[in-house]
Amino acid sequence: MEAWRRGLNDPVSASPVAKAGPAHIATLKTFDPPLAALEGRRFRGAERRGKRLLFPTDDGELVLTVHLMTAGRLKTLRPGETGPKTPAFSLAFADGSKLVLTEAGKKKRAGVWLTTAAAADEELAHLCPEALGLDAASLGPILRREARRLHPFLRDQRAIAGIGRAWANEILHTAKLSPYALTTDLDDEEVERLAAAINEELTRGLALREQGADNDHTYRVHNRLGQPCRICATPLAQIDFEEHTIFYCPQCQTGGRVLKDRRLSRLLR
Ligand SMILES: [Zn+2]
Repeated sequence: MEAWRRGLNDPVSASPVAKAGPAHIATLKTFDPPLAALEGRRFRGAERRGKRLLFPTDDGELVLTVHLMTAGRLKTLRPGETGPKTPAFSLAFADGSKLVLTEAGKKKRAGVWLTTAAAADEELAHLCPEALGLDAASLGPILRREARRLHPFLRDQRAIAGIGRAWANEILHTAKLSPYALTTDLDDEEVERLAAAINEELTRGLALREQGADNDHTYRVHNRLGQPCRICATPLAQIDFEEHTIFYCPQCQTGGRVLKDRRLSRLLR
């Protein structure tokens, strides 16, 4: 998301909005103020909080918020460049460039909100800390709030913002922690390792995305079932857990134990 933000910052603030919309009915989540309120205003740039991209107007009054979910993509089009026929949302700028949101698949999950700056601040006040830059001293208390398994905990945007399922796999592998370990069971040294791994992996991911690296050149654990672990060469394993597939090294992370698929073992019992 940080790579998206950096890529969008200059294009969106180059020129004022000439036409806001159209927007797919399932994509635009707000109606007051109307989208047309953006017309004639210029964005200050692109900001990010967790997985949300924020585009505040430079008069400080309005904020356009975009959440891409998993399938949404934001793209800027140069003047005259042809874009998708039916974007989920589009903004045309006075210089002829455009910002378009597309979403693969039939289900529209990505969202666009236009709110006052005050309403956006209020909403963001309830968001949790950003993963990137989190140190062990701040991570410890969040981990100890309640006993949860590490993989779903890391992905929970209400606990820590900015980690998706792929990066949860990468982070736990680097930290040498089991995806099933309980947050409340980690000792101080493990909390240190987890905080360091979060920063190390997200920084690595950000740098690779900025270089335009694809998934194959970015992930070292995610989607790599059966491939050798980069540390111990044990074939990587996978386990389905709560609608997600977790990838891990059964040597580095779980001390030689293969994790059991809870749903499957229940069915077979
Ligand atoms: Zn390993």
